[in-house]
Amino acid sequence: MKILVLNAGSSSHKSCLYEINSLHNIILPLKPLWEGMIDWTVDSNHGLLEVQANGKKNTFELPMDNVETGIKTMLDTMIKGENKVIEKLIDINVVGHRVVHGGKKYYQATFITEEVKATIKELIPLAPNHNPVHLKGINSIEAINKDIRQIAVFDTAFHCTIPDYAKIYPIPYQYYKEGIQRYGFHGISHQYVSQRMAEIIDKPLNSLKIITCHLGNGCSITAIKDGKSINTSMGFTPLEGLMMGSRSGSIDPAILTYFMREYDYDRDEIDQILNKKSGLLGISGISADLRTVLTAMENGDKQAKLAVDIYIHRIQEVIGSFLPSLGGLDALVFTAGIGENSAFIREKVCQKFNFLGVKLDKEKNRQFCIDKNIATDDSSVKILVIHTQEDWAIAKQCYNLIS
Ligand code: AMP
Repeated sequence: MKILVLNAGSSSHKSCLYEINSLHNIILPLKPLWEGMIDWTVDSNHGLLEVQANGKKNTFELPMDNVETGIKTMLDTMIKGENKVIEKLIDINVVGHRVVHGGKKYYQATFITEEVKATIKELIPLAPNHNPVHLKGINSIEAINKDIRQIAVFDTAFHCTIPDYAKIYPIPYQYYKEGIQRYGFHGISHQYVSQRMAEIIDKPLNSLKIITCHLGNGCSITAIKDGKSINTSMGFTPLEGLMMGSRSGSIDPAILTYFMREYDYDRDEIDQILNKKSGLLGISGISADLRTVLTAMENGDKQAKLAVDIYIHRIQEVIGSFLPSLGGLDALVFTAGIGENSAFIREKVCQKFNFLGVKLDKEKNRQFCIDKNIATDDSSVKILVIHTQEDWAIAKQCYNLIS
C-alpha cells in the first residue's frame, strides 16, 4: 500500500511516500520511497523545494503564487524526473494529513469527508496558522483526483484522555461548554515516542508511568499513564506551558490586562509579543534558536545564560508538577530538535531530580544516544532519547485504519 503523508504547516510543507505492505514484525520505521519539502521562508520572492528519492537529492525554486500549486509541483516530482518513484499520482492508495486541531470532535484518525473538512474549517479560530493550510493540502489532493482516499490524523487526538480536572480551566463553566479547554498538541509525537520507548525497554506500555518532553521550536511535556495522556503542558493553544523559541509559555494572565491598560496594546500586539518576541528570543535578545543562545552563553553573554536558566527551570517545574498525577515515574523521554540533540539541556534538567533516583549517565548522554536509555544502571527511572517520527506514525495510523 502506498501511503503519502502530507504535513502542511504554516511556513513549510513536508511530505513523504511510504510503501507499507504489512506492519507485522516492523519495529523500526520504514524508509520513505520519496521525500519532499517546501520552505516558503527562504526569501520573499520564491519558495524552495527539496526532493529526495532514488538516492538523489534535487532542489527547485517555486514561484510564490499559491500553496496548492506548490504542493502539486512537489508531488509531480514523484512521477517525473530523477526522483520519479511511481507512474501516476493515482497510484497513491491513501494520503494522511497531519491536522493540528481536531477540537472536541475527532479523537482518532478519520477519513476526510465534506463534514470533516467543514469541521477543520470551523476550528480555524483555534488554529489560525495551521488549519487553513491543512485544508489547502486536502484540496490539492482532491484536485489531482477526487477518488484518492484521504485521512486526517489529529495532533490533539492523543490528549482526549486527559481527565476533566486537568482539562477544564477554572473560569466560568459556560466557556468550557463553548469549547475553551486544554486540548494539548504534539500528540502524534508524544504517542509515538512513548510507544517506541516501551519497545526499547521491552516493557508493556500499559504498565508504565512516563513523562515525554518534546523540546523543539515548540515545546511541550506530557504525562502518560497506561499508554494514555493524562496531562500535557500546552493547553487551549500551543502558547501555554513551557518557555519556547519565541513563545512565552505560561505567564500570569493578568499581565495581558496590564499590557492593555498601561501600554495600550491591542490584541495583535499582545499576540506578537507572546508568540513571536518572547521565549529564548525575548530574554536573550539574540535568537529563538537554542544553539545560537547556547553559543552566546558559552561566550559569556549574561542574557543568554538567563534565557537558558529560565528554559531549564520551566521544564523542571512542569515535570515536577506532573509527578503527583502519575504517582511515580518509570521513564523520562526526550525528543525533537533540542531533546534529541542537546546533551547539556538533558543533563541540567535531570540534575534536579537526582533526589528521586533519576540518574543520568553523563558519558552515555554525550555519545550518540538516539533511541537509547541514557540512565545509569542503578537509576530508578529510565531516561531515553527518542527520535520523533511523526510522519511514520501518521503512515502507520493510516495503514491501520485502512486495513
Ligand atoms: P525542531 O523544532 O524539532 O526542529 O527543533 C528546533 C530546535 O532544536 C532549535 O532551537 C535548535 O536550536 C535546536 N537544536 C537542534 N540541534 C541542536 C543541538 N545540537 N544542540 C542544541 N539545540 C539544538
